[in-house]
Amino acid sequence: MARKPKRKRIKSNRKPRIVRDKSWKTDILRGDADDWEEISPQLQRVVPRGREEDRVKLWTKVDQELQRDPETDTSPASETEQDAIPEGWQRGIVTRVSTSLYDVDLGQQTALCAVRGSLSAAETGYTNVVAVGDEVLVSLDPSGDGVIERIYPRRTVLARPDVIHPDWSQIIVANVDQTLIVSSWEEPALWLELLDRYLIAAATGQMTPLICLNKIDLALDLQHCMEEMALYEELGYTVLFTSAETGQGIDELRAHLVGKRTVLAGMSGVGKSSLLLAVQPDLELRVAEVSAYSGEGRHTTTQVSLLKLDEGGYVVDTPGIRELGLITVHRHELVLYFPEIEDRVGGCRFNDCSHTHEPGCAVIQAVEEGEIAWTRYASYQSIYESLPEYYTE
Ligand code: GDP
Ligand code: ZN
Repeated sequence: MARKPKRKRIKSNRKPRIVRDKSWKTDILRGDADDWEEISPQLQRVVPRGREEDRVKLWTKVDQELQRDPETDTSPASETEQDAIPEGWQRGIVTRVSTSLYDVDLGQQTALCAVRGSLSAAETGYTNVVAVGDEVLVSLDPSGDGVIERIYPRRTVLARPDVIHPDWSQIIVANVDQTLIVSSWEEPALWLELLDRYLIAAATGQMTPLICLNKIDLALDLQHCMEEMALYEELGYTVLFTSAETGQGIDELRAHLVGKRTVLAGMSGVGKSSLLLAVQPDLELRVAEVSAYSGEGRHTTTQVSLLKLDEGGYVVDTPGIRELGLITVHRHELVLYFPEIEDRVGGCRFNDCSHTHEPGCAVIQAVEEGEIAWTRYASYQSIYESLPEYYTE
């Protein structure tokens, strides 16, 4: 859920500072662009409510069954019980998956593990029973290889529809705490609607958003950037200003990543890989290698892994999680993600006002009076139009 605005006066109520060619943005939103690696906000997923709930149920079932093997464990799986780790087992985090083997980070060592249990995708509705980011208990054999014995309940799940079985979902990564939403000041130019979409996606995925404006070295001055982003700070979001080129803001970025699990969102070319390498030069980013070959920062692999930060925490190395740009909210719920708009809806003439065109709309009035930022309202309108009118089966 988006946070309450901290203040009443919103000053950046003006049209974008420079009129720039936005046709490429429209192409991405319409789906005409080939750059599908990073985001595809026009792919508003039509998720039937019931089915989504079924998945949650199934998922809970998987969690329960995997935590407790009924043949060996007859005790109730209470919170305290989970904390008492059986003799010889160790707690770890799945950092990489290859075929049916998993890399599990146990702190001092990484063990290659198989998974115990016979749950198949057909029973769970998920194509992968164990996912990157899962917190697990493993038993090790003397050679150092292990078996994943239990999976702890997931705090968050980032999933996508399975390519082969459209009725199933594939978990991309579990237990991510925060989303670092990276935009660049120029090249590509700051695109606030996309930022607003990512903010909604982070809120729906229960991930804390962290906004990062990169390439500030390309701005005339930092003040200019800060003015542009002031609105978001006033809405209660943390905004970082960085340059992977000059190193500005990198220490602060690092401090925000330490001890957390962070997934990066942002369109291609904004500097996500460069930022991660600035934070920790020895991170083994596969994307960086691929970028070097193609020379364009294009990514060809879709494998996900967790990269460990020296000072604690992980970043999710994935070449573009396009699902992060997907928003699965109902049109009438959209205002919940625009707190400054939601604040006004009580004043609208009609109860079912969509705040897009109706007479007597308090939101439109507030925009006209400069109380709601024009850019945010433009995002609201555009996202509203792009969401399906009804969810269909
Ligand atoms: P990604 O696709 O988001 O991972 O972006 P990359 O990290 O591959 O960066 C895309 C391009 O932007 C590369 O040519 C980088 O050198 C450049 N770049 C990244 N960060 C900065 C920055 O802070 N300032 C400037 N001027 N260029 C940057
Ligand atoms: Zn209204």
